[in-house]
Amino acid sequence: MVEKECDNCETKTQRKLLGKIRGKNLCRKCRKEVRENHREETIDEAGIEQELISLEKNIKNESQRKHYRIRNPIKKRKKISDEIPVPKGSVIKKLDPTNKLESYLGFQESHILLKILMKRGLDFEEARESIKTMKEELRVTREKLREQNKPEEEVKRQMRLKIEELYNY
Ligand SMILES: [Zn+2]
Repeated sequence: MVEKECDNCETKTQRKLLGKIRGKNLCRKCRKEVRENHREETIDEAGIEQELISLEKNIKNESQRKHYRIRNPIKKRKKISDEIPVPKGSVIKKLDPTNKLESYLGFQESHILLKILMKRGLDFEEARESIKTMKEELRVTREKLREQNKPEEEVKRQMRLKIEELYNY
């Protein structure tokens, strides 16, 4: 059996068990060492070690959280209607009758109506659809009134009444 010394530890080793790393013939033990050192170097160089550590921490935390969740399931969320504040007073009364925009259902009004509808048990999508319909109805009414050549003041007055109806219906 042909034996040769390991270039590193000088232990006589079967030739076929020696392996070349960076030009040196090394025994199995030394090769393993070199590889391990190299891996550590690589990780260090890339600054990955810290990342690996925090990654591991994260994974540990995550699985802890998961287990915590399994033991302590999330309590049912409060119904959305409980979280929506009741609008105070009629918003309509604060509206300026000379403001042309008030014959429209503006953003603020839509928002309040949305809350009112959801408080009445509609979900968000239903409430949104419903407001879309209201806006369309208001638009049609407004156009009708204008076609009848009603004075703009009258159009606004009627629209405000209609909007106020929406709040109270
Ligand atoms: Zn060796």
